[in-house]
Amino acid sequence: MEKILIVDDSPLQAAQLKSILDNEYDVTVAQAAEDGLCRASCENYSLILLDVVMPGMDGFTLLKKLQEEIITQSIPVILITSLSDVEHEQRGLVLGAVDYITKPFYSAIVQARVNTHIKLYNYRRQVEEQSMTDQLTGIANRRRYDRYSMVKWNEAARLQVPFSICMFDIDNFKIYNDTFGHPAGDKVIAAIAKTVSSHLQRGTDFLARYGGEEFVALFMGDHSDKIFEHLKRIRQAIEDLHIPHNPSVSEWVTVSVGGVTVVPTAESAYGSYLKVADTMLYDAKKHGRNRVVWADERMKQMWEK
Ligand code: GH3
Ligand code: MG
Ligand code: MG
Repeated sequence: MEKILIVDDSPLQAAQLKSILDNEYDVTVAQAAEDGLCRASCENYSLILLDVVMPGMDGFTLLKKLQEEIITQSIPVILITSLSDVEHEQRGLVLGAVDYITKPFYSAIVQARVNTHIKLYNYRRQVEEQSMTDQLTGIANRRRYDRYSMVKWNEAARLQVPFSICMFDIDNFKIYNDTFGHPAGDKVIAAIAKTVSSHLQRGTDFLARYGGEEFVALFMGDHSDKIFEHLKRIRQAIEDLHIPHNPSVSEWVTVSVGGVTVVPTAESAYGSYLKVADTMLYDAKKHGRNRVVWADERMKQMWEK
């Protein structure tokens, strides 16, 4: 059942709205804006019905806060106004509310507006989901990576926990394509994505197709020693798929891996550490491929083999 949040200081009005929507939706009521904000950021609502006039934080302030937070900004908000409130209506729509309903409530109209906006929201989410997924592998694409990396990097800086950036690149893949054909190459890319995905453990572990035959993975919370060991196991698991390569380069398809672990500070730019990870990958290639090269928290290199 889709979840709806009603934020309204009047218990009577909230109960009326709830009874109109209760049959079709899982409805929660928050009687103050602060409580509404808290619920909206930790539960998955498909729609928020928001009363404009409330003591303490009013509906407009809450609407602004919802729009500023990445987690809540896409949830549609319908304002509850009284018939005479043209000014409120206008201000709310300018601030980003999708619609308004006026008191007194007409059940059929409330239901119709709510249904329409939930339908639109779901459609948008579906399109967004598709636009952030790589078609060949089903993992995140570059667009999702761009967003996710920034959000998580800032989170790690705030929490002062280690953050790891890891680049994978398939070895001698041009020769693979030239030998076995592009469609076979596509299957290899998908198989490698699947293998790496199956080794992701935490909810914050993240894998994306960075481009062509390159992947990027992000990890939060573990120090370099642990991550380095983890990546060695993943590299081995890919070799153990035993996908035959052109014998002139190697027996099996393999990947080179480069990465860095750092505790981000407010000043440390993500881009400069991505470059470090890329340099580690370059070193792995230069020293024979099929290995992991890592830069630890003190930017000291760790080598496999
Ligand atoms: P290295 O070990 O140095 O990485 O050598 P490489 O041949 O893998 O590297 P290079 O960058 O020269 O070639 C990458 C190849 O990856 C070339 C391109 O045809 C192939 N490739 C990129 N994207 C795709 C794809 O989506 N499907 C297939 N089948 N091949 C791809
Ligand atoms: Mg490459
Ligand atoms: Mg390559």
